[in-house]
Amino acid sequence: MTPDESIAGLPCNLCGGVCVSVLSQRSRSGDPLRTVACRQCGLVWSDPRPHDTRRFYAQDYRLAYKRTHVPRARHVLRAGRVALSRLEKIRPCLQGRMRILDVGSGGGEFAYLLKSLGHEVHGVEPNNGYAAYAATQYGLHVTQGFIGDIDLPPAGYDLITIWHVLEHTDDPGAVLRQLHRALRRGGLLVVEVPNVEAACQSPHNTFHEAHLYNFNAATLSWLAARADLQPCVSEHSADGGNLIAIFRSVNDAATPMPVGLTQRNHERVANRVGAHRPLRYWLSAHPYRRAAGRLARMATEWMQTREPRGARERLDALYASNVQPAASAAHAKKHALWLWVAGAYAAALLLEWLLLDRMLPTGAWGERQALALYLALQSAMVAGVVWVTNMPRTMPQIARLAAWAAPMFALPIFC
Ligand SMILES: [Zn+2]
Repeated sequence: MTPDESIAGLPCNLCGGVCVSVLSQRSRSGDPLRTVACRQCGLVWSDPRPHDTRRFYAQDYRLAYKRTHVPRARHVLRAGRVALSRLEKIRPCLQGRMRILDVGSGGGEFAYLLKSLGHEVHGVEPNNGYAAYAATQYGLHVTQGFIGDIDLPPAGYDLITIWHVLEHTDDPGAVLRQLHRALRRGGLLVVEVPNVEAACQSPHNTFHEAHLYNFNAATLSWLAARADLQPCVSEHSADGGNLIAIFRSVNDAATPMPVGLTQRNHERVANRVGAHRPLRYWLSAHPYRRAAGRLARMATEWMQTREPRGARERLDALYASNVQPAASAAHAKKHALWLWVAGAYAAALLLEWLLLDRMLPTGAWGERQALALYLALQSAMVAGVVWVTNMPRTMPQIARLAAWAAPMFALPIFC
């Protein structure tokens, strides 16, 4: 055994292997958490288990994450937006009136959106408070409990969605087999999980107690194939933080996992996790883009939750204005870029006033010094906007950027 090799207490959920390498010894909260990767296939899990899964999800989880047993107004709004983005992801799967199961339905926002589109929806949620809330607020059919304990009707669904749940279960292979049985043949399963190779979060936040398993695209699709789920779509989110995969329920999707490929997958996962270092992270655009996004979100949520409204009324308003999503997504994007440009102009005016109008007359700064500082700060600001928005990428975008940046630089001449 090499120094980083170890024997796991729990066998690999994908291939049964126990020979692992240790990826991390700490969770994101700084507590001890041993995270290992299977040397045969690259599946990653917490070994030993950090908590009593049942108690944790039935009671503590939402409290630990959101400090509440029922969603607050801003949580409803945020979950409503997430529900709309999820609808976009599954839109190609929706045809006619479908029987849909949403596993881990939380406060019920996504299930309610599907129900309002005319589908027959069933939710499953382990948390008592959230399950009851979804049923009473939105009149949803929600079963409270762990997915593994619930009797699902065989071939009872056309579509099953499981968003950010599989990584929390203590036997993801068994859950996928159970969902396969609950799908009619040809039915679709939509799975979203965090991507273990993601570089968009701080390296200290890669592993935490709530995620018992961590996947990359290969381990997720191999695990699904073992449950006779055939991959149709496998994608990463724009920031690389999540994996989304759509599987079709078939009679026999299982193909033996090619040994060379699975071992290379272990190397790939270990290398990617090992290469994700703090310096690299802080030199990337991710932390700044996240911080800017969070600020913008907080401001929007504050504006939109000022007037008291019921959760259902809030979601109805949000969904009514966003149900034609292609147009609204483009609008949101335009709006965001417009906000950045407006912010940059406001900062330019402030700088111009501060440096050139206030400091120049005091004699503290020479004219050239002040102008050079103004131009340097403006350049930094434009670079910041480019970095945060990840634009421009195309010629028209470059032209647009030049068009709005030029007058900003020339501001001292006009004023
Ligand atoms: Zn394995």
